[in-house]
Amino acid sequence: MKDDSDAPIAERAPAPDVASDAQADPPRKPFKARGSFVERCEECRLPVLNCLCPYRVTAESTTRVWLLTHPLEHYKPTNTGRLIGDVLADTEVFTWRRTEPDEGLLARLDDPRFAPFVVFPDDQPDYAHRVVGPEAVHEARDDGRIPVLILLDGTWRQARRIFRKSPYLDTLPVLPLHTSRHTRYHLRKPASAAHLCTAEVAAELLRQVGDATAADVLDDYFDVFNDSYASSRRHSKLETPTPAMKRLLARRSV
Ligand SMILES: [Zn+2]
Repeated sequence: MKDDSDAPIAERAPAPDVASDAQADPPRKPFKARGSFVERCEECRLPVLNCLCPYRVTAESTTRVWLLTHPLEHYKPTNTGRLIGDVLADTEVFTWRRTEPDEGLLARLDDPRFAPFVVFPDDQPDYAHRVVGPEAVHEARDDGRIPVLILLDGTWRQARRIFRKSPYLDTLPVLPLHTSRHTRYHLRKPASAAHLCTAEVAAELLRQVGDATAADVLDDYFDVFNDSYASSRRHSKLETPTPAMKRLLARRSV
């Protein structure tokens, strides 16, 4: 990767605070988000003005998601990785630490029931032999294994670090996301419209590997999160339900 601006994965907040090893440890205090004085819902962590909870809908999928989350990302209310777990109940979240691999994740990687794929761009030659396409996910499923998308959840800089400094990921197939989709995320400023946030990456890949319903629900839930959060920043309540809100409410009432 030439610089941070070509990152097609992960959330793209400018990340001046994550450059050194020493800072890979969890912060002592929860991340102080802009507007952290705002009263937040304890469930969804959005400002209560536009709480996300009424739109929470679960979906079935044949593919699972495991998030390997950078410690600094956990506390950010604008994190979209957590939305995936709200929609797909089997989602697991592991905290990445460079010198202390998560034991639960290592056990999962050893479990032959699962076929894990690391989601990462395919733009570097040194791991080109590991790159696979969505058909590999279908093949794993046909073999009776549960395909798993491992998403590296953090800024681009953090995701690259996780990819490069986690030896237990080095033998896994790498699944890049190829899409013409432009991001709809407007809570952090991306370096480019082609840079999708974590929930968008998950939705697009789920769609590409045959989990269309889960992808649709996650997309709608992400859009509601995005609109609700942005509206709260303007201190206004979304009075008229958006199309995504209406679709999720319809699913809830079924
Ligand atoms: Zn809520």
